[in-house]
Amino acid sequence: MKIKNLPYSLPHHVLIEEEVLRDGLQNEKRLFSTEEKLSLIHFLIASGIKRIQVGSFVHPKWVPQMANTDEVFKRLPEVQDVTFTALILNEKGLERAIASNVRHLSMSVSASETHSLKNTNCTTEEAWKRIERLILNAKNHGIMIRAGVMTAFGCAYEGKIPSTKVFHLVERYTALGVDEINLADTAGLGNPKLVYEIVNESRKIAGHIPLSLHLHDTRGMGLANMASGIAAGATIFDTCIGGLGGCPFIPNAAGNIATEDAVFMLQEMGINTGIDVESLCKITHSLEKTLNKSLPSKLASLPSPYPNLKRSNS
Ligand code: ZN
Repeated sequence: MKIKNLPYSLPHHVLIEEEVLRDGLQNEKRLFSTEEKLSLIHFLIASGIKRIQVGSFVHPKWVPQMANTDEVFKRLPEVQDVTFTALILNEKGLERAIASNVRHLSMSVSASETHSLKNTNCTTEEAWKRIERLILNAKNHGIMIRAGVMTAFGCAYEGKIPSTKVFHLVERYTALGVDEINLADTAGLGNPKLVYEIVNESRKIAGHIPLSLHLHDTRGMGLANMASGIAAGATIFDTCIGGLGGCPFIPNAAGNIATEDAVFMLQEMGINTGIDVESLCKITHSLEKTLNKSLPSKLASLPSPYPNLKRSNS
């Protein structure tokens, strides 16, 4: 039997949040200057990217690559339809974000007790109390909040995470009235079935609050998980140009899904992102030169998929 129509409807448009400046660069030893970051941002905007995570406000001792986040924010170009966002972990980060006039912030707690203790030295309940205060404080400053659940699809320490833990956090965020709820596959352990089930149920709990997915391609399931997430109703996806990133604990692990691979898949599925794939590949090539290594992107390492079509267009 042939399936003529999908048993679910696809959105006409999804939003891509480009993570290269934070999740991508934070593991790189070579430090990027403010000018280099601003230049990267310029090319990302020119390719059609509409939301960019510019960096994180964390202690420069722990993540030296993020030491110039405040400066980069102060020198961002003035563009109406692009959202510049940042990651914060605590009140100190929020203070710096407010001082840098950041209007959109991401913050997260972990669904895994062990991950929470190792990552933040807090139990999940202590971490919740902290993020609740942060959210209320940021909202008082009129900042848009994206609140996240780390290890939503599995934990390297605990293995499977009971989905009730994830749904409980989604319920709490919904009650707090955040602007977006992000589910993160921090350990790259999600699979398409699990992603569908968790996103589908979270969407029912979150109601009108948009759901976003932060997927890592650690074990090659990134795009499959993304397609599953779209089918279940997620509308915002974190990706990283070139697929830069990875995990400091797993040598050679791929990072986030490559933005160009994601945009190409979406384009082929008839889902619009407003982003030009060829421009993204050029950014990846230039990043590969700067970092002197090849990146995991599939699309950027192959010839254009439609060379004839391209030629007839030009
Ligand atoms: Zn990540």
